[in-house]
Amino acid sequence: MGEGPDEKRACGCYYTLNMAFRLLAATTSQGKLRDFRAAAKAYSIFIDPLPAVELVPAPEEEGETFVANATTKAMYYSRFAPSQLIIADDSGLEVDALGGAPGVRSARFAADSGLTDSPDANDNTDVWNNMVLLQRMTTVPLAERTARYRCVLVTALDGVAMHTAEGTVEGLILEAPRGTGGFGYDPLFYLPQLDRTMAEIDLDTKLTVSHRGRAIEALLPLLLK
Ligand code: IMP
Repeated sequence: MGEGPDEKRACGCYYTLNMAFRLLAATTSQGKLRDFRAAAKAYSIFIDPLPAVELVPAPEEEGETFVANATTKAMYYSRFAPSQLIIADDSGLEVDALGGAPGVRSARFAADSGLTDSPDANDNTDVWNNMVLLQRMTTVPLAERTARYRCVLVTALDGVAMHTAEGTVEGLILEAPRGTGGFGYDPLFYLPQLDRTMAEIDLDTKLTVSHRGRAIEALLPLLLK
C-alpha cells in the first residue's frame, strides 16, 4: 500500500487523517486519563481507557528507570488488546540532594523506609511519603532543594514497544506543605515561575506546566510521523 497525501504511517498501520485516531491508556487513574485526553484533543487523537483495565493484574514495576517500567507496562497491557495501540506511563520525583531519590520508588518511598505498607490501610501513602521526604531533607538549605517530576510515556502494539517520550518540570522542595490540590508530592513541590506549589494551581494550569502534560505533548507528534 502506498502512502497517499492524506495518509500517514503509524505503528505499522495505515489510517487516513480524516479518521479518528484512537489510543488505549493502560491506567486506572482518572486523573491521568483526564490529562492524556486533554493534551491529545489538540491533535484530534482520542484516548480511552483500556477496557476492563482494573480487572487485569498489574505487572511488577521493578525496573531501575522510568523508561524500563513504562515499557514493561505498555508491552504487557498491549497483549490484552490485540491490534490496538496502548499507551502506558511511569513517573515520579527526583530530588538532587537525595541523589535522584525517590525516583522510580516515588510511590513506595515510605514503604521502602519500613514506615508503612504501600498503600497503607487508610490510603495515607502520600502523607507518609511526604513525611519521609521532609525528614530526609531537614538539613538541606532551600537553594539546594532542587527537584523535578519526570514522566515517561511508551506506546506498544501487540507486545512490541513503538514510541517513547518524556517530560519534566523543575521545582524546589519546600520545608512545609502548601495547598490542597493535586496528589502525591504536590504540596511540597514549588514552582518558582508561578510562585505556587503544584497543589496550589488549577488542573488546566498543571497540565500546561507538568511533566505529564509535557510528555504527552512530546509523544503525540511522534504518533503522526
Ligand atoms: P506513577 O507510578 O506514575 O503512578 O507515580 C508514581 C508516584 O510518583 C506517585 O505515587 C506520586 O508519589 C509521584 N508522582 C508522579 N506524578 C506526580 C504528580 O504529578 N504529582 C505528585 N506526585 C507525583
